[in-house]
Amino acid sequence: MKHSKGLSAKDRQARSQLHLLLEQADGLAHGSLIRMARLCGNPNCRCALKGQKHESLCLGVSEKGRTRMKHIPKEQEGAVKRWVRQYQRARELLETISQEAWKRLQKGKE
Ligand SMILES: [Zn+2]
Repeated sequence: MKHSKGLSAKDRQARSQLHLLLEQADGLAHGSLIRMARLCGNPNCRCALKGQKHESLCLGVSEKGRTRMKHIPKEQEGAVKRWVRQYQRARELLETISQEAWKRLQKGKE
């Protein structure tokens, strides 16, 4: 990376990990995974007849004070869990980079 002089080791390391993560990640998803019980809509299904609701995974994210929810199809559960993990990892790395920038600002003041 250009202009890397003056960056702390921690900063450089976080940047290269973020770079690698973005290169390798098949997706990044901001949100939290929630298990929800629901009715499928089939009146003859056990969920309607016996009250045994289906469990499914939802991805929820708060935006401007309201929560958006998305139902995750079974076959995509693995991928979405990975995207959420990858997003969190990317955010941790960004936070590290940001903290290093704050430290530089403090140094500049002295
Ligand atoms: Zn059902």
